[in-house]
Amino acid sequence: MKNVETDLREVQLYIDGKYVKSSSHSTFDVKNPATQEVIAHVHEASYEDVDQACRAARRAFEDGPWRTMTVKERCNKIRRMAEIILERKEELAHLEALDVGKPYPVALEAEIPRAANNLKFFADFMEKQGGEVYPMEEDYLNYTRYEPVGVAALITPWNLPFMLTTWKLGPCLAAGNTVVIKPAEITPLSVSLLGEMAKEAGIPDGVVNVVQGFGPDSAGEFMTTHPEVDLVSFTGETTTGKAIMKNGADTLKKVSFELGGKAANIIFDDADLDKAIPESIRAAFLNSGQVCLAGSRILVQRSILDEFIERFKQAASELNVGDPQNANTNMGPVVSEAHYRKVTSYLDIAKQENATLVYGGKRPSLDEHIKDGYYLEPTIYLHEDPDARICQEEIFGPIVTIIPFDTEEEALAIANNTDYGLNGVIWTENLKRAHRVSHHVRAGTIWVNCWFVRDLRAPFGGFNKSGVGREGGAHSLEFFTEAKTVCIALK
Ligand code: NAD
Repeated sequence: MKNVETDLREVQLYIDGKYVKSSSHSTFDVKNPATQEVIAHVHEASYEDVDQACRAARRAFEDGPWRTMTVKERCNKIRRMAEIILERKEELAHLEALDVGKPYPVALEAEIPRAANNLKFFADFMEKQGGEVYPMEEDYLNYTRYEPVGVAALITPWNLPFMLTTWKLGPCLAAGNTVVIKPAEITPLSVSLLGEMAKEAGIPDGVVNVVQGFGPDSAGEFMTTHPEVDLVSFTGETTTGKAIMKNGADTLKKVSFELGGKAANIIFDDADLDKAIPESIRAAFLNSGQVCLAGSRILVQRSILDEFIERFKQAASELNVGDPQNANTNMGPVVSEAHYRKVTSYLDIAKQENATLVYGGKRPSLDEHIKDGYYLEPTIYLHEDPDARICQEEIFGPIVTIIPFDTEEEALAIANNTDYGLNGVIWTENLKRAHRVSHHVRAGTIWVNCWFVRDLRAPFGGFNKSGVGREGGAHSLEFFTEAKTVCIALK
């Protein structure tokens, strides 16, 4: 077991190259979800603090060397920042486990290395970019340039705090923008360090600012209405995306939204269940099911329903639910008391909707030191009605529903019967069916016989209410740049 530091942290804001306290002296507490112990006092940014951060970012954009230095010089600094993340990976993974309640090995082996790679990938990718040339007969030559937009607001959720913030920060910085970051109020620890890491990497003061606070009438809203902010990259709930779009309208901010999901994970009767079952378990319960891409609607062809349920239930029962700091823990708690209440309210909803409980539905038995944590067993329901709330609403916790189907057409109708469209998963050994179904599921990413595999060049984002715009490779750079055409008369 990893040694858990119990020191109470003080999390300050990072503005214009230094840590500062909240100007209003307001702070809020953050708890470890495994124990309910208070782990940090966080300085809440006032409007004045957000204003200072946005103005520092504006000055660094207009006056500083960041946008005018060579791409190579800028990208070298971003790559150095990626190295610093790796040098501090144990500390960062520890903070993620403490703050989010995710198993330490998952943070250490997957999320923190991916965060470093988010920066390195976009630094390398930026250096390879060119532009287009359009000659017009012999008279004129057009060519394009991709220039930074200005000051970006990056607002991120609590489920993968460091990984998701760096996924935005990489392309934002590589393109030459400056930034004000706000992590979720319940998980501020790891992201609070990004400013000092940028400074250590040689990134000029004012380029990376980090503020802390809440959404409405707090730091989030102050950022999305601030006149110095040119663009907002947001990941979080669909309802928050709507509020940000409205709030940003007056100052006409460019927006990119990665929002909620309720993915269909479709298991056809020719699927290789030896692969489909462990991956469906991961898709259901990784990070306690708090993953936007979770396969939380498991559509199973009726001819294999009994076998699937038996084996899926058995695999769920083998998950170790426990202390996130423990090396053999597969699933920790959910992130907060409020979220625990939301997630567990679906146990009552499922009962009212006459869903059949297949597995779980209770607090697991826990070691004494984590007995107050926000824990729920991996929970599986069976329901025939795809319109039921447990089949439609994003629970964002360790609760999934199995929905039986008979034909491919029926599976597609159920899969597309959703307001969301972030991703889908298909398990079949039939190649024609794999292509056919992939083309007809209305979602931004379709995984066939796999889940959560990412090439960072590929577009990532949601259909329908799962998002606006795409991230990944050239798609991220398109958002974080302004395209310019230069037309030259040759005669
Ligand atoms: P949330 O929308 O409640 O909060 C996200 C961030 O927005 C937080 O930093 C919060 O303080 C801020 N915020 C809230 N209201 C705001 C406002 N009015 N103005 C400005 N900022 C505001 O989301 P959450 O509960 O932290 O995260 C869970 C959600 O995120 C789920 O719906 C999940 O599917 C989604 N998510 C999506 C992706 C994706 O890539 N599509 C990835 C991870 C999580």
